Amino acid sequence: MKPQHIEHIGIAVKNLQASIKFYEEVLGLACYKIEEVEDQQVKTAFFKVGDTKIELLESTSPEGPIAKHIEKRGEGIHHIAYAVDNLPAALQEAESKGIQLIDREPRKGAEGLRIAFLHPKSTHGVLTELCEKPE
Ligand code: ZN
Repeated sequence: MKPQHIEHIGIAVKNLQASIKFYEEVLGLACYKIEEVEDQQVKTAFFKVGDTKIELLESTSPEGPIAKHIEKRGEGIHHIAYAVDNLPAALQEAESKGIQLIDREPRKGAEGLRIAFLHPKSTHGVLTELCEKPE
């Protein structure tokens, strides 16, 4: 599937506003967007670093996947997202190579991207997201 670049790195945080401060005041990046993705029960904040973005994720529900992740492992890197040309084809290829898919069909992610996750059991422990820009 040959990803073009790392689209973003997803980081689970307890408090979006407090975390934004670190990225702005210490790293000197600018948060250019805050967006809620109801589907995934998260509020996200985005920063650009070259071609790659940092996506901070705060859970909007105590039952959400990010809340559960923080409960188990604390704050920190949650997933790595690769930009691919053709997401359905990439998913098919991954499955044909024995990778366990979390999403068999692309779904809607933040920033209007079409996204799908590969299971960390099949990816040596890294929750891996593939994403494609809509046409
Ligand atoms: Zn993501």
